[in-house]
Amino acid sequence: MPQLGFGVYQVPDDEAAETVAAALAAGYRSVDTAALYGNEGGTGKALRESGVPREELFVTTKLWNTDHGHDVALRAFDDSLERLGLDYVDLYLIHWPVPSKDLYVQTWRALAEIHESGRARAVGVSNFEPEHLTRLFEETGVVPAVNQIELHPRLQQPELRAFDAEHGVRTEAWSPLGRGNGVLDDPAVRRAAAKHGKTPAQVVLRWHIQLGNIVIPKSVTPSRIRENLDLFDFELDGDDLREIQRLETGTRVGPDPRTLS
Ligand code: NAD
Repeated sequence: MPQLGFGVYQVPDDEAAETVAAALAAGYRSVDTAALYGNEGGTGKALRESGVPREELFVTTKLWNTDHGHDVALRAFDDSLERLGLDYVDLYLIHWPVPSKDLYVQTWRALAEIHESGRARAVGVSNFEPEHLTRLFEETGVVPAVNQIELHPRLQQPELRAFDAEHGVRTEAWSPLGRGNGVLDDPAVRRAAAKHGKTPAQVVLRWHIQLGNIVIPKSVTPSRIRENLDLFDFELDGDDLREIQRLETGTRVGPDPRTLS
């Protein structure tokens, strides 16, 4: 899986084809969508018409909260694949555990079957806390390839990242820029950006890369789409990393996975 991908949350379906085409032209090969985003159609169109060989693309989509349960999950996957117009996805994720329904273990069994069928090359989860992952390990023995979680300098998730790593689960950061709220204006980030001749967004994304996180920044602005890809000609030093580590506030931009129903 490429460490850097492109997220399409809140991109309307009728704009998704153009936005994803711009991202592919800029050089992204990994695209993250979801049934919830309502743009699997436009995203799939761009992927199919891009001229990029399918094996060079990495396509992720996700099962929405209303589709938990074994049989419902199997149908939800078929529907996503049909909307994308693809024969397989590279990664299929459970979007949220929704603990109040207590169905995510059944859903996970369905994803394991989908994986075995070859129509999802890998399966994983999103927004799973250690107690949710532990139930998957203990009740199914199938380890998710990825846990996609909210992760940015204001919410650095050291314990969850360590738990994932300990169990062979790769951590993927959603809202890696903290949705641009405040983090990109922070003096420490701005200092590092000036020092390296890069932008604040590039500093934050580079911080993720050096930590080993998979990142999927989102932008619909062509210059930012390109900017967010241009991360591999500089390196943050120990001082930069320590300054960014101090930006933790524990503040989420999204819901709490333990209570979202
Ligand atoms: P993000 O942290 O990627 O921030 C995106 C926003 O930051 C943009 O809308 C723009 O306002 C700003 N931005 C982007 N590039 C910039 C740049 N170079 N300079 C200045 N500002 C810039 O937030 P996101 O869109 O919430 O998250 C990224 C992706 O993560 C989504 O598109 C989606 O694919 C995924 N996601 C997953 C979940 C989940 O529950 N699994 C939840 C939210 C998002």
